[in-house]
Amino acid sequence: MAHIKLYIPGPVEVSEKTFKALCSPMIGHRGQGFKDLYAKMQPQLQTLLSTKQLVYLSTSSAWGVMEGALRNLTSKKVLCCMKGAFSDKWLDVAKRCGKEADGLQVPWGSPIRAEDVDKKLATGQFDTLTLIHNETSTGTMSPLAEIAALKNKYPDVLFIVDAVSSMTALPIGFDALGIDILLAGTQKAFALPPGLSVFVCSPAALAKAATMKDRGYYFDLVEFEKNAKDSMTPSTPSIPHIYGLASKLEDFFTEGLEARYARHTKTNQMTRDWAAKHGFTLFPEKGFESVTLTCVNNGAKADGGRVVDVAKLQKLVKDQGFLIDGGYGKIKGTTFRLSNMGDETEATMNQLYAALDGAMAKL
Ligand SMILES: *Cc1c(COP(=O)(O)O)cnc(C)c1O
Repeated sequence: MAHIKLYIPGPVEVSEKTFKALCSPMIGHRGQGFKDLYAKMQPQLQTLLSTKQLVYLSTSSAWGVMEGALRNLTSKKVLCCMKGAFSDKWLDVAKRCGKEADGLQVPWGSPIRAEDVDKKLATGQFDTLTLIHNETSTGTMSPLAEIAALKNKYPDVLFIVDAVSSMTALPIGFDALGIDILLAGTQKAFALPPGLSVFVCSPAALAKAATMKDRGYYFDLVEFEKNAKDSMTPSTPSIPHIYGLASKLEDFFTEGLEARYARHTKTNQMTRDWAAKHGFTLFPEKGFESVTLTCVNNGAKADGGRVVDVAKLQKLVKDQGFLIDGGYGKIKGTTFRLSNMGDETEATMNQLYAALDGAMAKL
C-alpha cells in the first residue's frame, strides 16, 4: 500500500535517514557503546535547550513524563493551566495520581496569560504548576517567557512545562527561563517515531523529588539524574529511538538551529497564507498562533461564505497521498489542522498546498 504522508500534528513524517538510524545493530544499555552514544548527544541536547543541566531520555510518550513530574514534585497542590485537550487532561491526570489539583481554565483558542496565573498563585495554595507551551489541539501558543517570569515572584512554586509540539522549532532556553521541568515527546517537532521523551529538570526539582515518598521508580527524577551522570538511563531504554535521536541531532546541527527555527516560522507563515487565500480564519486568538501547526476554522470561505466539510476535505487530500487532521476533541469537524513541524520544507509544504487546492476545487 502506498504511504500516505503525514501532515498531522503528531506523529509527523519520519525520514528515511532516521529510519536507517533506528535499524542500527543492538548494543547493551550498560556498555561503553551506549554510554558513548548518550555522552555524544548530551552537549547537543544541552545546547538545544540552553541548559547546563543533564538532559534525560525517557522511554515513554510525553504523558509518562507529564505524570511522573507530578508524582515527583506535587506535595501540596498543583495548578493546571488549561486551554485545550492536552492541558485540560493534565488536571485529570493529576487527580488520578491522587494529587490536590485546581485548574486555570481559559476558552480553547485563548492563551494562558501571566496575570491570570499570578492571581491564582497569589492564593498561596500551590507548590507546582503545569503549563503547555504549545497547545497542539488548538494550535495556540502561550507566552512562556512572561509566565516563567513569575518564578521571580513565586520561587517556591515548581513550574512544569510541556513543550511537546514546540521544542526544536523555536528557541526555548531552559536555564534562562528558570523553570523546573521542560519536556517533549519525540514524535512531534523532533520528527522521530513515538515512544521517546526528552526532558530536563532544575536543581530545585531534583531536590524536591528527593523528598517525595511515593515518586515510584520508572519516572524517578533522582534515578534519571544519577544514571545520566554515567550516560545511562534508569531502565533499559528504546535504544533504536536513541540511535534515531542521535541522527536527528546531527541533522539539527548540520542545518543550524537558527535556520531550523527560521524554516518553521517560514513554513508556518506559508500555511497561514494558504488559509487566508481561501478565506479561512484561524482558530487561535490573534497573536498566539503556533509556529508548528495551523488550526484552521472550517467556517466561511471568502467566496460565498460556505462551510467546508472537514471529513470530505480530509478524504480528498488523502486521495492525493497526504494526511491532514480533522480537528481534535470538541473542535473536531469545525477545525482542521495542518502541521509544518519536523523536516518539512517550503517545497514539501507546497506539495501539501497543491493537494489542498485540488481538494478545495472539488468541494
Ligand atoms: C502529543 C502531545 C502530548 C501527548 O503526547 P503522548 O505522546 O500521547 O504522550 C502532550 N502534550 C502535547 C502538547 C502534545 O502535543
